[in-house]
Amino acid sequence: MQEPDIAGNLETVRNAITEACAQFGRDPASVNLLAVSKTKPVALLHAAMAAGQYHFGENYLQEALEKIEAIDDPAVQWHYIGAIQSNKTRQIAGHFDWVHTVASAKVARRLSDQRPDNLPPLKVLVQVNISSEASKAGVAPADAPALVAEMADLPRLEIRGLMAIPAPAPDESGQRAEFAALRMLRDRIREEMGSKLPAFTDLSMGMSADMSAAIAEGATWLRIGTAIFGSRD
Ligand SMILES: *Cc1c(COP(=O)(O)O)cnc(C)c1O
Repeated sequence: MQEPDIAGNLETVRNAITEACAQFGRDPASVNLLAVSKTKPVALLHAAMAAGQYHFGENYLQEALEKIEAIDDPAVQWHYIGAIQSNKTRQIAGHFDWVHTVASAKVARRLSDQRPDNLPPLKVLVQVNISSEASKAGVAPADAPALVAEMADLPRLEIRGLMAIPAPAPDESGQRAEFAALRMLRDRIREEMGSKLPAFTDLSMGMSADMSAAIAEGATWLRIGTAIFGSRD
């Protein structure tokens, strides 16, 4: 297979972000790009770093730990975006900077308890099953405020906001409705929690196929894999 042109792909994605920000009145500085590098070799991550990309998202713990060790660069921020088994929380708390997929009080408590003292608090987002799909990960929207409230006192977590992977929608307005629901849930929790969670601002939503709809509805973290690294097969 031909090597993807990572620098060129990153430029294309960054230009698309800038354009969508102009179209929807967003400040480009408020939209962060997470390069989702699952299944991709370390050489491609190095190519992305050479092009100025330092946030990487990984789904599979063992694979991620190998890459973190191989790259061994404190400038890189590692984001865990996969399913969390509670017997894996110690390694996640020890090696990642961000976790986007917290969906239970038990996992949150373990991540806080197991976050090493020499590292800053772990930045976490609560994953919400925003489309209420039977088989999907994430807390039900109605249960998200209580979960965030329960997490608020955990000393070694910085609770940054909400994450979702909405069900595919038939068109752009349908996509936007799903993302808007996550934004409104964040705003509601912000109001309820008042000043207790000053950092509760982020919305991790939007992937390669629905980036612009996510920007329109307030995404602060786009999780982009395919458009940067090519398809996964
Ligand atoms: C794989 C993955 C992505 C990236 O998806 P692309 O369609 O390749 O951009 C984003 N978020 C999560 C949670 C993923 O698992």
